[in-house]
Amino acid sequence: MFKNLVDMHSHTEHSFDGHYPVDELVEVSVERGIKAVAFTDHIEMDFFREKGFDKTADESFDDILRAKKKYADKINICVGAELGQAMYNISEAEELINSKKYDIIIGSTHNLRGVDDFACLDYNNEYSDFDKLLKEYFYEEKLLAEWAKFDTFAHLTYPLRYIQGEYKKTVDISKYQKDIDEIFSLLAEKDKALEINTSGLRQLIGLTMPDVSFVKRFRELGGKYVTVGSDSHYTEHMGAGIPRGMEIAKECGFDSVLIFNQRKPIEIPIE
Ligand SMILES: [Zn+2]
Ligand SMILES: [Zn+2]
Repeated sequence: MFKNLVDMHSHTEHSFDGHYPVDELVEVSVERGIKAVAFTDHIEMDFFREKGFDKTADESFDDILRAKKKYADKINICVGAELGQAMYNISEAEELINSKKYDIIIGSTHNLRGVDDFACLDYNNEYSDFDKLLKEYFYEEKLLAEWAKFDTFAHLTYPLRYIQGEYKKTVDISKYQKDIDEIFSLLAEKDKALEINTSGLRQLIGLTMPDVSFVKRFRELGGKYVTVGSDSHYTEHMGAGIPRGMEIAKECGFDSVLIFNQRKPIEIPIE
């Protein structure tokens, strides 16, 4: 068991799909011996004003900052945000992340331009050509990696959670290896972290996002940093799968995982 458990991705009631107040999530995390936790509520930049993320971003930030101070002697709380689809609304994304003293920004892609979240698509009918979707997905991920104004690059292979995990489709991921390699090289070059998202371990896909083979490839291409995150939306999932995530990091040649303080990385030894 690791003594330095850290969880750099989780959601509070300030996310549309979150359920628990930050205080309850903190208390559970302390009980589980987690040393640092990031609360990273959703801010979907393609619907920033339309769906009220401009308001929930403020509420989330203020509430997490309050908790950070309240629990300062018990646990290190990183005030974060999961920035979805920054590339579809670059100017407001940049304005937002510069407007507050965030500790950590997670860069995510949950949907293609003008298309619903990958979680909501029907891969048997309207979206049965999932190769086309994946091609576009990795292209968008490449644009995000080029932009790189985040701290960690979230859940690469997210669509596989649904295509492979829920719809049981066979995906030949080698078709996208060139794009994936480019993404990893960009992250390495820009000293950005790759997230090992452990939510897949408790879902049908049964793998981290990305899986160990990708993390290994990231390391081969010069990747220096990783983060681990449970992507918890419930108290029961705080820290879930983190020990396995840290093991994967170690297996792939990383000695530490990152946490962040005001966007500055801090290396936490894997031990
Ligand atoms: Zn996400
Ligand atoms: Zn998330």
